[in-house]
Amino acid sequence: MKDGKGRRIDYLRVSVTDRCNLRCIYCMPEEGIPLLAHSQVLKLEEILQLVEVIHRVLHLRKIRITGGEPLVRKNCEWLVERVSQLAETVMTTNGVLLADRAPGLARAGLSRVNISLDSLRDEVLQNVTRRNVTLRMIEKSIGAARANGIWPVKINCVVQKRVNQGELASMVKWAMDLGVTVRFIEHMPMEGSCSEGVEGGEIIAEIEASLGRFEPVPSENRTAELYRNAQGMEFGLIAPLWGDLCSRCTRLRLTCEGKLLPCLVSGDPLDLGVMLRQGDSPALMEEAIVSLVKSKPAKGRCEGVKMWRIGG
Ligand code: SAM
Ligand code: SF4
Repeated sequence: MKDGKGRRIDYLRVSVTDRCNLRCIYCMPEEGIPLLAHSQVLKLEEILQLVEVIHRVLHLRKIRITGGEPLVRKNCEWLVERVSQLAETVMTTNGVLLADRAPGLARAGLSRVNISLDSLRDEVLQNVTRRNVTLRMIEKSIGAARANGIWPVKINCVVQKRVNQGELASMVKWAMDLGVTVRFIEHMPMEGSCSEGVEGGEIIAEIEASLGRFEPVPSENRTAELYRNAQGMEFGLIAPLWGDLCSRCTRLRLTCEGKLLPCLVSGDPLDLGVMLRQGDSPALMEEAIVSLVKSKPAKGRCEGVKMWRIGG
């Protein structure tokens, strides 16, 4: 279905939990976040019911399971197995629990995964995540994903001033050696965040200073711009502040309490969780989804988001 601005909306991001095993400095405050009560978080069966209703309206092309950290939600493989019957199902994860779960996720039908990794240096990883994350752990998860056919893998790296600036070119080379693509993400100012971002243009300039000129490459991806140099090295850039993501946006977001968001940062959510629990008919929900899509904002302003609740 197309929204009021002519964009085809066929991509749903589903946050299955607001809980996380890390405390990334750009996402959550050190002391953690005010968690939803267990009764507010939808059961996996309820999330599935909502995804089915949304799918009937939008004919989804892609479903992304996210969080918080999706792999801290017990048995999220159950949901993957069901939603992957509806549309291609992928996941965004911090990778810490992925090595052990990759076989089960692959059996459930997960096709691809994006893994967050902000540095190649363990001390920086531990400062950023405020937990004991190591490069070795993430490399093991990448290997497990590959061995189980969850492939290709993309790496998400939030570029932060005085944190991982200076190692972007090394990350491009590391990614190339492993056969994965790294996407550099502009930091979005958020509630509880204590990082400072770097603008997209500066990110490209830093990489070009070490690896030579990179040219934009036409790609199917509507979120990341892909860049390639003469040696065939590549990286992606996700620049919500510097670039123009909104005109190409195809997504809606469902939070773990059942709120359907027309945009990461703007517009009024539709409380499908409440509608489901009070017994509203599927037809009524479908009608409400159609009007939400029609009113999707043309542009959002990336400030003050609760990323752990919405899932990025
Ligand atoms: N826990 C999982 C993870 O970290 O991959 C999934 C949820 S996380 C909220 C989804 C994505 O949002 C991650 O790639 C993370 O790097 C990104 N993110 C979180 N806070 C951000 C911020 N302030 N600016 C830009 N990206 C952010
Ligand atoms: Fe957790 Fe992901 Fe937020 Fe880091 S970015 S604190 S891993 S939800």
